[in-house]
Amino acid sequence: MDHFQYKAGKLFCEDVAVRELAETYGTPLYVYSTATLVHHLNQIQEAFSEADPLICYSVKTNGNLSILKLMHQYGAGFDVTSNGELHRALAAGSAGQKIVFAGVGKTDLEQRRALSENVFLFNVESEAELVALGEVAGSMGRKAPVALRVNPDLPPKTHAKTDTSVKGVKFGLDIDTVLEVAQRFVNHPHLDICGLHMHLGSPILSVEPYKQGIAKAKTLVAALRGQGHPIRILNMGGGFGIHYRKKEALPAQAFAEVIVPAVRELGCKLVLEPGRFIAGNSGILVGRVIYTKESGGKLFVIQDAAMNDLIRPTLYDSFHRIWPVEPQAGFEVPPEDFEQPGENTVSVDVVGPVCESGDFLAKQRHLPPMHQGDLLAVFSAGAYGMSMSSNYNSRPRAAEILVDGTKHREIRRRETCEDLIANEIGFLNQ
Ligand SMILES: *Cc1c(COP(=O)(O)O)cnc(C)c1O
Repeated sequence: MDHFQYKAGKLFCEDVAVRELAETYGTPLYVYSTATLVHHLNQIQEAFSEADPLICYSVKTNGNLSILKLMHQYGAGFDVTSNGELHRALAAGSAGQKIVFAGVGKTDLEQRRALSENVFLFNVESEAELVALGEVAGSMGRKAPVALRVNPDLPPKTHAKTDTSVKGVKFGLDIDTVLEVAQRFVNHPHLDICGLHMHLGSPILSVEPYKQGIAKAKTLVAALRGQGHPIRILNMGGGFGIHYRKKEALPAQAFAEVIVPAVRELGCKLVLEPGRFIAGNSGILVGRVIYTKESGGKLFVIQDAAMNDLIRPTLYDSFHRIWPVEPQAGFEVPPEDFEQPGENTVSVDVVGPVCESGDFLAKQRHLPPMHQGDLLAVFSAGAYGMSMSSNYNSRPRAAEILVDGTKHREIRRRETCEDLIANEIGFLNQ
């Protein structure tokens, strides 16, 4: 369920017409729905309530401060992967005690800052990192709380670039050797190895990988406890899939049914790190058609949102539903199945102005005939959209708008050409 709906042939975000936003703030434009963000966080909170989990919203998914603040207000903690993300979570009002720190390459500086902010947990991904964290904690006279991130070596479950639990990826400690490594850190004076962490990959559209991961987690927790590590936290990461094409995703309840009983059996505190599930369908990207053209027997719709704004189609061949913000007569109701041609639709490539053949938002997509000036909505763009955006081709980043009922406000202003050169201008004549 989301709050981007067509009413009488016009797209609304909650109670605000998207055309009005495009006219007020310009395009390309990210538009987010407060109600949808809160609704999806609530769904996870309710589904897992029996386990009383710490739900750490994944900052890399969409780290806009206003969105983080909203998550914080509704009870979430944060999953961060860099000093910059830690900075964002703290700036949004989070206590360090509700932050978990992941990532394969945490530096001394990051470990030090996270320790001084009293983060809840370090998800540690290698033996070298355990050694380094032990030293940093020791130099501060501290004991670092650690969850061992294990790569459970599961079958492929999602796009290769975002599958984090198959053999041979850089993430986590190898499941075959994690116990050997853990043995060397029993009774370490500056490391409290108190948790086990798995983030399986993303997006995941079935409970099967969680079942397989949980089965391996149960064995590992018992073995680690046997070594003398007081394991009291199970962190099952994020990865819950969303509707990108149609209604392909599972409700949070389905994942809870697999995870909650295991947590109860193990007597562990549950940590979750959802990102996409909360933010993905809470945002759209709005672009305006600049030109249309025919080339090589194909039709191109060239609009002002590009790969620098939303790189998922280029990077992962991701599918995003696209439909006009105010479709012409006969197309007022968007299709059930965006992958099938509709009556009188035209097959087009939706592209941006960037100088790359890989700059596209959709290929061979069935849309109503499009014209210069028309507005297009790219759906499911709230996760890994703005957070992966860049200034490639010296394109200023889009503005971001947060809608709440009939109200809307800018939560990040559109960048200017001055912003683009600001970090260089002072060096120009040296
Ligand atoms: C990216 C990431 C997440 C969030 O994944 P989603 O699929 O967006 O829920 C959670 N934990 C870790 C360690 C991650 O790298």
